Amino acid sequence: MFYIGPHISIAKGFKKAAETAVDIDANTFQFFSRNPRGGNAKKFDEKDISEFQKIRKEHNFGPILAHAPYTMNLAGVKDEVYEFANIVIKKDIERMDSLGIEYMCFHPGSHVGSGVEAGIEKIVKALNLALTGEENITILLETMAGKGTEIGTCFEQIKEIIDRVERNEKLGVCLDTCHIFSAGYDIVNDLDGVIDEFDRVIGLDRLKTIHFNDSMMPFGSKKDRHAPIGEGEIGIDAFINILEHPKLKGIPLFLETPFDDEGHKSEIKMIKGLIEAK
Ligand SMILES: [Zn+2]
Repeated sequence: MFYIGPHISIAKGFKKAAETAVDIDANTFQFFSRNPRGGNAKKFDEKDISEFQKIRKEHNFGPILAHAPYTMNLAGVKDEVYEFANIVIKKDIERMDSLGIEYMCFHPGSHVGSGVEAGIEKIVKALNLALTGEENITILLETMAGKGTEIGTCFEQIKEIIDRVERNEKLGVCLDTCHIFSAGYDIVNDLDGVIDEFDRVIGLDRLKTIHFNDSMMPFGSKKDRHAPIGEGEIGIDAFINILEHPKLKGIPLFLETPFDDEGHKSEIKMIKGLIEAK
C-alpha cells in the first residue's frame, strides 16, 4: 500500500482534517498534538472524534502521525523547560494513544550548550518516565538537520537514545529527507549507502515514517528550510529513487512542504504521477 498525506491543521477539528485529507487525495495526514509554539492542549470533542474515526476507517487511511510541539525540549537545561517537556510528552502519549493514533514524532531536543551527552541523558530519563509499556502508540525520534545544538543529527545519537530507553519496543524513527540531507547524508548521490548506514546503525525495522520534504538549503548546510518536492536542492530524481526503493516500500510519507491544502493536492497528484509513470 502507498500512504501519503500532508500536515493538516486540526484547528477546526479532527473530522474537518480527515475530510480535507480525503478531498486532496491523501490517505493519511500529520497534525500537531497541541499548539506547536505554545503548549495548550484542547479538550477532545467526542462527536468530532467519532466522526473522524469513521472517515478514517471508511477511507482506509494508513497510519496517522501526530507531531509533538516544537516548544517541548526534552534536553532542556532550565528546570521549567525540562519540567514542561516531561509533562507534554507524557500527556500527549496518553492523549494520542486514546485516539488510536499510530505514531507521534518529536524533535529529540536541543542541549543548549550543556553537551550532547548531557542532553541524551535527559531525553532518555524523560522517555523512561513517560512510557508505560502499555501504550499502543509508537513514539518516533525525528532525524534533525543539526541547527544550533540539536540532538538527533546523526543516526548514532538516535541509536544511543533508543538503546538506553527501557521500553524501547515503543520507539521508532521518523526520517526527514530535508533534515538528513542538510545534516550531510547524501540521499542524492548515494541513497543506497544512506539506507545501508541507517540499517547498520539503527536498524530499518525502526523506520516507521518519512517526512517527505525537499530542501531550500544546500547539502550539509545544517539548516532546516523545507522546499516543495522537486523544487529544492534535493531535486526530483532523488525523490523518484526514494519512491522506488524496495527497502522503503510501504513506509508512510508525510509532506511538510510550504503549501496550503490545495497546493498539497497538486503535489500529491504530481508524486502519484511519478510512481504511475514507471
Ligand atoms: Zn519535525
